[in-house]
Amino acid sequence: MGDILAFADQQDGEIRGVALEIVSVAASRAAKLGGSAHALILGGDGTGKDASGLGAYGAEMVWVARDESLTHYIPEVYAPVVAEVARSGNYDAILFPATARGKDLAPRVAALLDTSLASDITRLDVEDGTLVAVRPVYGGKAFARIKFQGFPTVMSLRLNAFGVAESPASGKVQIMTPPVKGAGRSRVIEFQASRGGTMDVSEASIVVSGGRGMRGAEHWTLLEALRDALGSDAALGASRAVVDAGWRPHGEQVGQTGKTVAPKLYFAIGISGAIQHLAGMRTAQTIVAVNKDADAPIFGVADYGIIGDAFEVLPRLTEEISDYCSNG
Ligand code: FAD
Repeated sequence: MGDILAFADQQDGEIRGVALEIVSVAASRAAKLGGSAHALILGGDGTGKDASGLGAYGAEMVWVARDESLTHYIPEVYAPVVAEVARSGNYDAILFPATARGKDLAPRVAALLDTSLASDITRLDVEDGTLVAVRPVYGGKAFARIKFQGFPTVMSLRLNAFGVAESPASGKVQIMTPPVKGAGRSRVIEFQASRGGTMDVSEASIVVSGGRGMRGAEHWTLLEALRDALGSDAALGASRAVVDAGWRPHGEQVGQTGKTVAPKLYFAIGISGAIQHLAGMRTAQTIVAVNKDADAPIFGVADYGIIGDAFEVLPRLTEEISDYCSNG
């Protein structure tokens, strides 16, 4: 016991950045439990060329299940494979990222293993030799501490809530054919990336979100300039009012009916701070709000608040940040 299995997601055969955080968490908690971290990659031909790289983040063993049937994510094909690999080890926990895919896959695997599940956790402690998870409830207004019965337990981890940590381990890679072949009831005909090159809001460590206070899609150039000044780890987000108005795509919506984010830094520009928006971002490490209404609820959760007109504040903020970044 004490071992932890991390689901290391890939896209087009390459390990996704989110996997590094999941493997890092698996490694640090497994070390406290007296076990080791293993990673599991599923994919089609050629997947896993970069698998040994997970050793740098603490994976002792990296299982790569390779098969044409695993080229695209199909839940009923992926879930039995993950469950079978989980059964073959002596794992205390199976960790997934709380991405759309991870949140879809984790409960399926838990059901196949007939074990407990904790979704979207933001903390994972080791107490008296067992894992204790913490997850936000009631839209982030309270936190539940969860102890588990039965092993292995299955969890999905909120991205950016834990961070990536290097801790060298052997990173031994074992390529295998999938131990079971799930019967797919669906077939992926085509895969279209939403927009080339831009980082997904749920994976970014810095998020620049705009609300109705930005007055129209044409003013997003101001937010894009701030995002660009903050570097390649920054992404754009939006409130639902903005998405409903058609100013931004739904993929950028943050909140109860959008994406949940936990970046290191979150900018809320012209966003009032409705409870449904807060549900998606209040676990961000640092929140900066810009709003011309001093009584806007967003200031209740903000670490830094600027009371002012976004159209005056944004160019100055972007300039300051650009200067700061270019001066190292
Ligand atoms: P508003 O509430 O209109 O706020 C605009 C803000 O901009 C105001 O605070 C104003 O003072 C400020 N402002 C105006 N002009 C300027 C300026 N020039 N400079 C600076 N500040 C300015 N919302 C989400 O965001 N995500 C969700 O996932 C979500 N899910 C929902 C689910 C349900 C079931 C329901 C009922 C609602 C949901 N909502 C969600 C909607 C939510 O209740 C709010 O309506 C929405 O978040 C408001 O968006 P907003 O803050 O952009 O707009």
